[in-house]
Amino acid sequence: MNLQGAVAVVTGGSRGIGAAICEELGRGGAKVVVNYSGSEGPAQEVVDKVNQIGGGGEAVAVQADISDPEEAQKLIDQAVEQFGRVDILVNNAGTNIDATLDKLDVESWDQVVQLDLNGCFYTLHAVLPHMTEQESGAIINMSSFVGEAGNMGQANYSAAKAGLLGFTRTAALELARNNITVNAVCPGFIETDMTDAIPDEMKEKITKTIPMGHFGQPEDIAQGVRFCIENEYMTGATLDINGGILMRT
Ligand code: NAP
Repeated sequence: MNLQGAVAVVTGGSRGIGAAICEELGRGGAKVVVNYSGSEGPAQEVVDKVNQIGGGGEAVAVQADISDPEEAQKLIDQAVEQFGRVDILVNNAGTNIDATLDKLDVESWDQVVQLDLNGCFYTLHAVLPHMTEQESGAIINMSSFVGEAGNMGQANYSAAKAGLLGFTRTAALELARNNITVNAVCPGFIETDMTDAIPDEMKEKITKTIPMGHFGQPEDIAQGVRFCIENEYMTGATLDINGGILMRT
C-alpha cells in the first residue's frame, strides 16, 4: 500500500514504539490518528511532530482505552469522521504486569490479556466494515519475541502475545479475499518506558544474551511496520526484529 494520503490508526501512539510508528508513517505522507489512553501531552507532541514533517503527512490525537470495546469502536468512528476512511490499523498499545506463576493473580492476568490480545480484536472488529467495503487494508499486530519464546515472569504477557500470532494468521486467511493484509511484528528488547522499568543489573544480563549486543530503538520497529504496510504480497507473516535474541532462547 502506498502511504501517501493513506489513513492510519496507531493504538498507543503517544509513547515509545507507537510514537516512532506515527512519525514514520507521517514521513511517508500518511494521515495518522495518534491514539492514547492517558498521555494527552505526549500524544499532542507526536501530533505536532508529524504535522511539522510536511510532505502530506498530518495527525490528530484521539483518546480511547482500547481494552474497552465501546471505546475501540469510538476510536475508529472518530478516525472515519476526521479523515473519511481507515486504510491502516496498527494494533500497538500494550502493557505488562510481570510475576512468576506462583505470584500472578487473576486481575493481572485479565488486565494484560484484555489490552494486549482482546483490544486488538476490538479495533479490528470496528475497522473491518470500512476495510471490506474499500476492498483494501493493512493491519499490523504488535506481538513480541516473548510470544514466540516465552519468558520467566511473563505468563500473561506471553500468552497474549502468542495468541496475537494465531489471531494474525487466521485474520490473514479470512481477509485475503478482501485485499486486506494482516501481519505481526515481534520486537526483541527495545528502549522505551516499558523496558526502562527493568532494573539495571537485569538489563546488563539481558544485553549479554542479545547477539547484536544492545537493545533496539523504537525506530527499528517503526521501519518494520512500514515494510509490512508497503509490501502488498506479505500476509500472515511474523516479522522478527530482535537483535537475534530469539536464536538464544
Ligand atoms: P510503552 O512505552 O509502555 O507505551 C505503551 C503505549 O500504549 C503508550 O502510548 C500508552 O498510552 C498506550 N496504552 C496503554 N494502555 C492503553 C490503553 N488501554 N488504550 C490505548 N492505549 C494504551 O510501550 P512500548 O515499549 O512502546 O510497547 C509498544 C508495544 O510493543 C506493546 O504492545 C508492547 O507489548 C510491544 N513490545 C515492546 C517491547 C519493548 O521492548 N519495548 C518488546 C516487544 C513488544 P498512554 O500512555 O496514553 O496510556
